[in-house]
Amino acid sequence: MVAPFELTDDNVVVIIGTGAGGGVLANELAQKGVSVVALEAGGRYLPDDYVNDEWASFGQLAWTDTRTTSGDWRVAKDFSNLPAWIVKAVGGTTTHWAGASLRFQPHEWKARSSYGEVEGANLLDWPIDADEMAPFYTRAEDKLGVTRTNGIPGLPGNNNFKVFEAGAKKIGYKEVHTGRMAINSQERAGRMACQQTGFCFQGCKWGAKWSAAYTDIPAGEATGYLEVREKAHVARILHDASGKVTGVEYFDEAGELQMQRARVVCVAGNSFESPRLLLNSHSSMFPDGLANSSGMVGRNYMRHLTGSVYGIFEKPVHMYRGTTMAGIVQDEARHDPSRGFVGGYELETLSLGLPFMAAFLDPGAWGREFTTALDSYENMAGMWIVGEDMPQESNRVTLSDAEDRFGLKVANVNYSDHPNDKAMRDHAYRQGAAIYDAVGATRTLPTPPYPSTHNLGTNRMSERPEDGVVNRNGRAHDVPNLYVSDGSQFTTGAAENPTLTIVALAIRQAEHIASEMNQGTL
Ligand SMILES: Cc1cc2nc3c(=O)[nH]c(=O)nc-3n(C[C@H](O)[C@H](O)[C@H](O)COP(=O)(O)OP(=O)(O)OC[C@H]3O[C@@H](n4cnc5c(N)ncnc54)[C@H](O)[C@@H]3O)c2cc1C
Ligand code: SF4
Repeated sequence: MVAPFELTDDNVVVIIGTGAGGGVLANELAQKGVSVVALEAGGRYLPDDYVNDEWASFGQLAWTDTRTTSGDWRVAKDFSNLPAWIVKAVGGTTTHWAGASLRFQPHEWKARSSYGEVEGANLLDWPIDADEMAPFYTRAEDKLGVTRTNGIPGLPGNNNFKVFEAGAKKIGYKEVHTGRMAINSQERAGRMACQQTGFCFQGCKWGAKWSAAYTDIPAGEATGYLEVREKAHVARILHDASGKVTGVEYFDEAGELQMQRARVVCVAGNSFESPRLLLNSHSSMFPDGLANSSGMVGRNYMRHLTGSVYGIFEKPVHMYRGTTMAGIVQDEARHDPSRGFVGGYELETLSLGLPFMAAFLDPGAWGREFTTALDSYENMAGMWIVGEDMPQESNRVTLSDAEDRFGLKVANVNYSDHPNDKAMRDHAYRQGAAIYDAVGATRTLPTPPYPSTHNLGTNRMSERPEDGVVNRNGRAHDVPNLYVSDGSQFTTGAAENPTLTIVALAIRQAEHIASEMNQGTL
């Protein structure tokens, strides 16, 4: 059977969300001849549609439906209805992402064993490890065209990188380079090389940066086995009396409720919407939500330890020219408890444009301190901290009393830093400032976390059903034909940007689902 598929077709795999996890899974399954209906809440935007203007682009692509927040994280105060910066569009957040593509370090798959008991944290080992993931990482790097892998050269460094590199080397860092980026440093896979225009977060108009929107999704559609329905917001997942899922209800573009039958359902709506959907799919058989016999759906939300450091110099840097994330220091990514915390962090160059800088540098700030910093924008260099935050049961997504335009309860996101997160961030602020001080910064600005871009956990993978939501293949412990295919399946977050791992897990999950379907066990 080829696309388009009937609503009554109960042989299709339904995938909810078409981002890094869902978009890749959809293509990988379609390449194997599996019929897929991918339902995506957002519309379809391609490079010609992207806007090189920060707020206009945000308005075009970002998920701005209401969410609520709680907890002592600063985001709850500064951006109470915007806990996360993610995308609602075909291709998901891979339209906005910067492209940093790093593998987990081997010990990070086994955080509980590597770090031991950490009070207040709910650490757990992943049921899979580095050796098992290695071939899938290799395939993911090839798919994304990651620089410094598969013989692909690194990108050239921009000014922001040159300042960062000089400071980092001066204070003794050794692992400093222009990163492993899913951005073409040379023409590849029919897409051109990076033009260094500096609007990576707004969707790459040149198509040089990998995004599922214009790679995996059209490739899947070309097979005839993938149908993407855009502006299709899934409301709930349905099941039969045996507890197997049978399909989904969704609101179509006209706001009409539709029902799509399914043989398998894969949830890939990012770490707020995926647990929200499972919780909203409660029934008399599953009163606490689907796949939630452990009570773990929504829990152990992680967002990476983040924060930024900006440095102001006497002369212009023009950090906004060239790739947004132009280089990395990896020396602090190791696990070394002598620094006063477990786990590690990466330092990566970052540039925000002036409109975003005004909103995010010090939310709510006013007066001379703040305006003089903005006056110095041309002379600024910037970096982002990304480190492993601790999973905590009380950091969680629950259903709020507020409802969206479809009458569906929205996600409330509760988050408070763990003492380990605070200790790591303070260390990173100090090291970041030292990098800029070493090359003559006149001022350094430690900057609090922005709305979360790396959203992880909330449906975590576990060996034992009582510890998590899905098993080693992302299959729900409780429901045999329900999968989680996005960043919400992360058991722990590691120090590295997550998308390469999400893509590698999607490639692996496609192998598993196709093989089970072929054997008739799914
Ligand atoms: C500015 C920015 C920069 C980033 N840079 C990097 C980077 O350099 N490296 C890195 O590794 N990561 C980066 N990330 C993070 C990366 O984009 C995410 O980790 C990744 O895209 C998450 O994949 P996902 O499949 O979990 O969800 P997404 O890619 O967010 O996809 C989820 C999709 O599901 C859809 N959806 C949700 N609910 C429903 C529903 N009910 N019905 C239908 N559809 C639904 C959403 O509309 C969305 O399209 C960045 C993110 C941002 C915002
Ligand atoms: S800097 Fe390169 S990757 Fe970023 S938007 Fe421009 S061309 Fe695309």
